Amino acid sequence: MSERLVELAKRRGFFFPASGAYGGTAGFYVYGPQGAALKRNLIESWREQFLTREGHMEIDAPTVMPESVFEASGHLDTFDDMIIECPSCGESHRADHLVEDETDIDDAEGMSLSAVEELIAERDLHCPNCGESLAGIEVSAFNLMFGTNIGPGSASPGYLRPETAQGIFVEFPQLKEYARNQLPFGVGQIGRAYRNEISPRRSIVRVRELTQAELEHFIDPETDEPPLAGVADVELPLYSAAAQAEDGDVEMMTVATAVETGIVNDWIAYYLGVAAEWYERVGVDMSRFRYRQHQPEELSHYSSDCWDAEVEVDGNWIELTGFAYRGSYDLSKHDEYADEEFTVFKQYDEPITVERPTVDPDMSVLGPEFGSEASDIAEELQRLAETDPDAFEGETVTVTVDGDDRTIPIDVTGFAVEEVTESGEHITPHVIEPSFGIDRLIYTVLAHAYREDEIDDEPRTSLALQPDIAPTTVGVFPLMTKDGMAERAQEIVERLRSDGFTVNYDDSGAIGRRYRRQDEIGTPYCITVDYESLEDDTVTVRERDSTEQDRVAVDELRSHLRSRIVT
Ligand code: ATP
Repeated sequence: MSERLVELAKRRGFFFPASGAYGGTAGFYVYGPQGAALKRNLIESWREQFLTREGHMEIDAPTVMPESVFEASGHLDTFDDMIIECPSCGESHRADHLVEDETDIDDAEGMSLSAVEELIAERDLHCPNCGESLAGIEVSAFNLMFGTNIGPGSASPGYLRPETAQGIFVEFPQLKEYARNQLPFGVGQIGRAYRNEISPRRSIVRVRELTQAELEHFIDPETDEPPLAGVADVELPLYSAAAQAEDGDVEMMTVATAVETGIVNDWIAYYLGVAAEWYERVGVDMSRFRYRQHQPEELSHYSSDCWDAEVEVDGNWIELTGFAYRGSYDLSKHDEYADEEFTVFKQYDEPITVERPTVDPDMSVLGPEFGSEASDIAEELQRLAETDPDAFEGETVTVTVDGDDRTIPIDVTGFAVEEVTESGEHITPHVIEPSFGIDRLIYTVLAHAYREDEIDDEPRTSLALQPDIAPTTVGVFPLMTKDGMAERAQEIVERLRSDGFTVNYDDSGAIGRRYRRQDEIGTPYCITVDYESLEDDTVTVRERDSTEQDRVAVDELRSHLRSRIVT
């Protein structure tokens, strides 16, 4: 089916490979007129569901960021995939995908480089391009970020963002001000991200320039709880890590039960519920949908729970969205590397009195061996005294100055214990991140809507898209262009457009062909102006899936369509 869908996508203007006139570049796609409209509708629906209804903020940050950001985030060191280069034909392949494609192993992504290397040798895998044996091949790590230089010369290296999330984390010190320093709050971002994928494939499922819609929900893990009541009864198809380990099945359970049994982190469960409702609404076939929990070895070290929304398309399961409990990892890293504070001040209900170590600001207590660093050391000691008083309990205390650890005997720090009143403390919020890929969603919505049937003994292809997601909502045709039918149809087009409908006017070819064209782009309703229309001001309104036709007065078209399109 995928070839027929991709062919339809190109022919009807949903998506097609970019720069075709110059031979094309793998992994880059253009959304044509129908695709761009479908994408816009899906994004708008996402924004409504995950930002507007939740009361979250939205930002729009740059796609190029300096190297320092990705040093802090860890992308520079670890945003890698496994690569092998065939010694015979020189073609590069993603090693874990090769193992998954050629063996019974479903998930090789979490394996080590050497484990994959061994498997390639053991199973005697061959190059998919030239067929030569890959035994003895070396698997290495390939960083997926696209690098660039900011400004002339190479003094300021930068990278195209590989995800939209960093733009939110990096701007946290400013964003928390907009949230009046109060947790919880959420910030979303929708935009392009770039990954230099080793082997882009399955058209828009794995591309090098993608669109993501990500939400970072910042919480105080000690006090904030998700508003579970609103989604408690939503049914979730859960494929837990335990079920995967035992070759078990997907289990249906409500959000409330999933939280009760402790199988899912409660914040993640909340978003799984919100997302399941939304996926169904935008046209994902929920009988081909599941939430798959990451196995312990797949989890990043900082993530305590992670689930992927997966859909079955063309007989394969693909990841649509990742839902991760990221703890305080991202903000702590930026706090460590950047100059600003990535914490929130949490006010206590009542001020408290505590004993705090303080450091003599007069650094004469430090011996001459500390030289010009004495005041920096004092400053660090004082910072440590405020953030981690327990560090002063031993005989020495260690601080980092200019990247080097300095161990200072307690008795020379001018250390004293003082009683202080504190009104609150600085905490690093925890983050829940639902991370949606829009391109894969577009592919899924199209694939799940794709139908082949017969109408009046003729084969028909149609897209059963949700009416409010379909790129075109109404097709308007004059039966013939003579006797004023075309003019009347044009008047109806203008009226419907001013009412906010996306309308496609078509007067070329037989009426049956015009219906077929609209069916193929998923237009839910078609209006035909015929001779009767000229007499009684009514038109036929044909529904795409049933092909049933109603006779509707032109004056009532707007309410007729609205009641059927707006969900
Ligand atoms: P995969 O394992 O398939 O490479 P990922 O786990 O690296 O994906 P995330 O980093 O979690 O993906 O990104 C979040 C979402 O962005 C994914 O669920 C997916 O929908 C989308 N996405 C990621 N990489 C691509 C890509 N190369 N092309 C299209 N969409 C992508």
